[in-house]
Amino acid sequence: MSQEGIKHEMPEQDPIERINNFDEVALGYDEETAIKEAKRCLQCSNPKCKAGCPVEVDIPGFIQLVAEGKFEEAAKKVKEKNNLPAICGRVCPQEDQCEAECVVGIKDEPVAIGRLERFVADYTSDNEEAKEIQQDQGKVAVVGAGPSGLTAAADLAKMGYQVTIFEAFHKPGGVLTYGIPEFRLPKEVVKREVAKIKELGVEIKLNQVIGKIKGVDELFEEGYDAVFVGTGAGLPKFLGLEGENLNGVYSANEFLTRVNLMKAYKFPEYKTPVYVGDKVAVVGGGNVAMDAARTALRLGAEESIIVYRRGRKEMPAREEEIHHAQQEGVQFELLNNPTKILGDEDGFVTGMECIRMELGEPDDSGRRRPIPIEGSEFRIDVDTVIMAIGQSPNPILINDTSKLETTDWGTIITDEETGETTKAGVFAGGDVVTGAATVIEAMGAGKKAARSIAEYIDNR
Ligand SMILES: Cc1cc2nc3c(=O)[nH]c(=O)nc-3n(C[C@H](O)[C@H](O)[C@H](O)COP(=O)(O)OP(=O)(O)OC[C@H]3O[C@@H](n4cnc5c(N)ncnc54)[C@H](O)[C@@H]3O)c2cc1C
Ligand code: SF4
Repeated sequence: MSQEGIKHEMPEQDPIERINNFDEVALGYDEETAIKEAKRCLQCSNPKCKAGCPVEVDIPGFIQLVAEGKFEEAAKKVKEKNNLPAICGRVCPQEDQCEAECVVGIKDEPVAIGRLERFVADYTSDNEEAKEIQQDQGKVAVVGAGPSGLTAAADLAKMGYQVTIFEAFHKPGGVLTYGIPEFRLPKEVVKREVAKIKELGVEIKLNQVIGKIKGVDELFEEGYDAVFVGTGAGLPKFLGLEGENLNGVYSANEFLTRVNLMKAYKFPEYKTPVYVGDKVAVVGGGNVAMDAARTALRLGAEESIIVYRRGRKEMPAREEEIHHAQQEGVQFELLNNPTKILGDEDGFVTGMECIRMELGEPDDSGRRRPIPIEGSEFRIDVDTVIMAIGQSPNPILINDTSKLETTDWGTIITDEETGETTKAGVFAGGDVVTGAATVIEAMGAGKKAARSIAEYIDNR
């Protein structure tokens, strides 16, 4: 197969236009480009890329089919393992997973596995038929309709279990629906992939906060043989700074949820329920921070500034998201940390005091530790501050469930291989176990847990 040095580019909306709309930024490959990109794959006999995929997709297998123009077959191959391919193709950090392992990447740019996955998933979106599966192996309750819960549910349904998902919100998808903005992951794509999971026979009950309307023990009393907890990490963290309760301070979680679920992105068709000032500071350096900063620009902020305590190299956001944010005019105040949020006599934000940082030795996370430079305080004038410094699990279900042990960080303790918790018959995976992580890791955990749940029920 022919090999070129760099990935084939994916067309994108022009940055000047796209900051005025919420339409998708990256537009996807056409057939010809997909075939050309697929032909860069060396079809390794020991494919390292596959080992880098938490949901075990047969990567060379599906790429070979794309190279031959057999797009339907390629999509089938991906879907053998991945229940949410159009989503993963858009938001997975492939650069740290499959593509990081691709041997083409040793000398050149790795094969664009994510773009090809997106291409095949989109190609076959409408014309597949659902298979009828007998669901007589046992009953499983899944709590949370995010990527971990949806994956566990789909895999269990495929194995013949009767699965019901209980979801707290009025829409399924978890962060895919209420966190990641429309311009990166259109809601239609999430709807489409969730619909496919329902076609497998999975029932999704919405507006069901488990731990409030009923507990995990009641689910067992209702006849479920096992419970999977995939409730995510939806509780925002704050820094505990003076001024954090001023008007105009949001958690990224609240900001993005309002935009996504209350349709602020359709303003003026829907009256926006989000106040965005002229000058917005977003504190943090991950995907969540990039999403909040880019969303603020689209909602009319004149300036949107990322304030991050480490440097560019240490930012945890995906490279592509940082690049897109820069293209759109988001400013970066790196090696800075807020010390105080300033307000006026009416309680509204007027600015943020920050301190400059320098990098010391690596800490537990392997990244160089930021150290404040004494006496370097300075002020930036902003009228909105969005905190995007991480999330921890929402404790509603956990506090209501006996025998479910947690770590000091509030995450559920599980066996890493099986997803088993300390409570018999209860399994857990995704952000509620790892703390805020990635879609594909949550899906990988859902997949492992589905296998263990099947084994648990069969051995009872
Ligand atoms: C803004 C943002 C951008 C991100 N960008 C990326 C990205 O680009 N790439 C990437 O890989 N990852 C990204 N992530 C991280 C990724 O979305 C998460 O790691 C992933 O969604 C975790 O999946 P999950 O199934 O564990 O939890 P979630 O997606 O959080 O889903 C949990 C679900 O459980 C429901 N729930 C919670 N408590 C209860 C209860 N008591 N009863 C019933 N239901 C309940 C919630 O409503 C939610 O629907 C991003 C996260 C955010 C917030
Ligand atoms: S490692 Fe790269 S070249 Fe080898 S099979 Fe995987 S995608 Fe193809």
